[in-house]
Amino acid sequence: MEHQASLQLTSSGADYSAHQKIGLAFIGVGLLALLITFLGEGALNPTVTLALSLAGLLTGSGILFARMLHQPAGVNNNGVWFSGATARGMAGWILGIVFTGFYILLYWTPSNLEQLIRGTDALSYAIRGSAADQWFLYGLFYTLAVLVMGIRMLIKYRDNRYQILRTISVMFFQLGLAFLIPNLMVLLNQPEFYFSYFWPLKYDYLWPSTFSSLTQGPGLGIFLLFWTAVMTVIATPVLTYFFGKRWYCSWVCGCGGLAETAGDPFRHLSDKSARAWKIERWMVHSVLVFVIVTTLMLWGNQWMGGGLLGGMSQEFSRWYGFFIGLIFAGVIGVGFYPVMGSRVWCRFGCPMAAVLGLLQKYFSRFRITTNGGQCISCGNCSTYCEMGIDVRWYAQRGQNIVRASCVGCGMCATVCPRGVLRLENGPLEARYNGPVLIHHDDMSVQLDETWKQSRPLMPPVQEDLPILTDDDL
Ligand code: SF4
Ligand code: SF4
Repeated sequence: MEHQASLQLTSSGADYSAHQKIGLAFIGVGLLALLITFLGEGALNPTVTLALSLAGLLTGSGILFARMLHQPAGVNNNGVWFSGATARGMAGWILGIVFTGFYILLYWTPSNLEQLIRGTDALSYAIRGSAADQWFLYGLFYTLAVLVMGIRMLIKYRDNRYQILRTISVMFFQLGLAFLIPNLMVLLNQPEFYFSYFWPLKYDYLWPSTFSSLTQGPGLGIFLLFWTAVMTVIATPVLTYFFGKRWYCSWVCGCGGLAETAGDPFRHLSDKSARAWKIERWMVHSVLVFVIVTTLMLWGNQWMGGGLLGGMSQEFSRWYGFFIGLIFAGVIGVGFYPVMGSRVWCRFGCPMAAVLGLLQKYFSRFRITTNGGQCISCGNCSTYCEMGIDVRWYAQRGQNIVRASCVGCGMCATVCPRGVLRLENGPLEARYNGPVLIHHDDMSVQLDETWKQSRPLMPPVQEDLPILTDDDL
């Protein structure tokens, strides 16, 4: 097989193939044009420089991805822990700082992104009939990341039907329901509504202020309320009962979509320790409780005519949006991909994941079954589990995996060289099973006392043996 150099900053240029060099050159031109757009003070047309930038980035990515067609499909473990970008090396930290910095500018000082925003005006006028703002820019970059890296997923996992369907699904939902339709609704003078997000992830969709604006606003408001209520209260538990949380986290959700596509090169960086699992359970359920309490308090406040929170109600919801929506979901959730893996937000902060996880653990048919007799303990499954689940621990015992945090991405089954793991939605019976294989952890031999005395395992100690010193030798 042809050697494929990892794209790390410290690698010798001689290791790169001609295709890689051409692809990197296009990406370099794209990044330069992006920098010019960002810094340009009106001297250059931002639409032209941004278009040039996207053309360079897309062409370069296309050339690099095309090379993957000449490699075997799937995860090949080819230098993933030795690349600067994917092993928390210099490139990884630079990427993390750039992602985080972009989020900070976006939320706090969007005026610094003015030229980039103006560069998307033409597209914004075409699909929403008005000039772009920072959220349009964000949505465009987000969607492009899902689509471009989604194509990479389709090439990389081209031999796996589950991964292909799942990737097409997240690309479809991000492009259609999370980008085009909300913007077209603005064009049609309707509320900007995201059909693929529900309470409690979109925490304000069940807040009284949203109810008021939708019922008093134009057009489709009542239908949108109906949609939110049905998806939150009926569809979510029913679909989770049949398919587990994967129907949402790995097939529909935009956060999951980005993690599964743009986050794929970083999935192995998730912390697999028991300590991280404990922190995860505390944090994700605390956020869920916070969302529920906030929602109830806002409704209580509304019912009491403002008597519960008074003028604080706006502040309360604003601070929630700031800490959870901005700091956690945005800055940490995406900015820290190259440092903490691709599902930081889904694992530690997403209230929707918490609800779906509780349903999945106690009220769902979904489980991962393990044919443990085939397991060779290679550890691929644990390494590539983005949710930090030590899959191998279960596989070695032949025990079903029923974990609240599992998003059903199927990557553990995809990377297993022995076909040990299977995602199933079978009947509830025998869903929880104990270990079916004997593992050294489970072995403890109890010796009968009389037998032990009559047949000691160790020869008796001869206390009268002389003790030798160096001088005797
Ligand atoms: S256990 Fe498997 S299916 Fe579940 S999140 Fe981890 S890799 Fe994905
Ligand atoms: S289940 Fe498969 S991937 Fe996981 S340790 Fe066993 S053989 Fe390796």
